[in-house]
Amino acid sequence: MQIYDVIIVGGGPCGLAAGIEATKAGLSHLILEMGSLTESIRQYPRRMRFFSTAENIEIGGLPFPISGVKAGRDEALQYYRKAAAYYHLNFKLFQQVRDVTKNDDLFTVSTTAGEQYQARKVIMATGYFTLPRWLGIPGEDLPHVSHYYDEPFKYSFTNVVIIGGSNSTVEAALELYRHDVNITIVHRGDDFRKTVKYWLVPDVKNRVKEGKIHTRFDSVVTQISEKSVTINNLKTGEEEQLPADFVLVLTGYIPDADLLRRCGIDLDPNTQVPVYDKETFETNVPGLYVCGTVMAGIFTEKVFIENGREHAQAILDHIMGREVHKVAELIERI
Ligand SMILES: Cc1cc2nc3c(=O)[nH]c(=O)nc-3n(C[C@H](O)[C@H](O)[C@H](O)COP(=O)(O)OP(=O)(O)OC[C@H]3O[C@@H](n4cnc5c(N)ncnc54)[C@H](O)[C@@H]3O)c2cc1C
Repeated sequence: MQIYDVIIVGGGPCGLAAGIEATKAGLSHLILEMGSLTESIRQYPRRMRFFSTAENIEIGGLPFPISGVKAGRDEALQYYRKAAAYYHLNFKLFQQVRDVTKNDDLFTVSTTAGEQYQARKVIMATGYFTLPRWLGIPGEDLPHVSHYYDEPFKYSFTNVVIIGGSNSTVEAALELYRHDVNITIVHRGDDFRKTVKYWLVPDVKNRVKEGKIHTRFDSVVTQISEKSVTINNLKTGEEEQLPADFVLVLTGYIPDADLLRRCGIDLDPNTQVPVYDKETFETNVPGLYVCGTVMAGIFTEKVFIENGREHAQAILDHIMGREVHKVAELIERI
């Protein structure tokens, strides 16, 4: 069996950045990705636009030219595909990694399909988008309930309840409202979250004021049925039934803690942040690294492409025994 210098688990922007750094260092590498290349971004809402400017999500020093300032999903998919091809990255797609074990100084990476690969170092770059934060309420697994929003046309002329108060909720609600969807947002907070893109706030608040998007703040959904949801107002205790042909549970995503544990990585029991060296990103398992949003635990909004792409360089510096590039922003943020 071939022994790679580095195996990277996850083919998102940060995993690709790690592959590029390995290539630049003259190391053999293999990227194992459970879906398509940059699967998470492929799953984003079709018409989403990044909040980052294009140059802030570039990898490998390759320019990301677009006619505007901020890229959309399709442009990002094209860019990362081209970057992977330009650097001749070595990847196997649709290979879900189940665990990583270490014997002496050699890692064995096993997939759910029973394949095994060996490497001297392993970088976990599995992100957070594969595991939605489930609410754990009855009916959440019904077929008309989704934890992902993709495009609006499916929902035109129906009643949709969105659970959540973050940016994803607001973007989906505005797009759906503009496609003849009767929208109600249910959020446990008393207002939308402060992290909503500032330019969307007047738009959504004015639509709420006009009664075109309905809201139930200070409220939680306690049950989802085939055609309705049950809502409980946390302040008054009142219960309400709302018609719902579809329910979008947009309450965020979380790194796969079980996967990290299966690889021998210790996690903080409260925050699920893995144990890792803040400069080198090496975990408690020597030679096993975390890279990108996977290291964020429950704080997924703190590590994104803009700062996560930098981890690759620090990790490869450490592997190569070079002076380690400092990822200052992340050290301050977590
Ligand atoms: C709608 C939306 C808009 C965003 N906008 C921005 C923005 O403007 N700027 C910004 O910087 N960030 C933005 N982000 C956040 C950013 O997309 C993520 O932080 C980023 O994708 C993290 O990159 P990553 O490589 O760490 O993880 P990911 O991109 O999530 O990649 C991880 C990869 O690992 C794969 N994987 C997972 N488990 C396994 C396994 N067991 N085996 C094999 N493969 C596995 C996944 O399929 C995935 O392809 C946005 C996020 C969302 C949801």
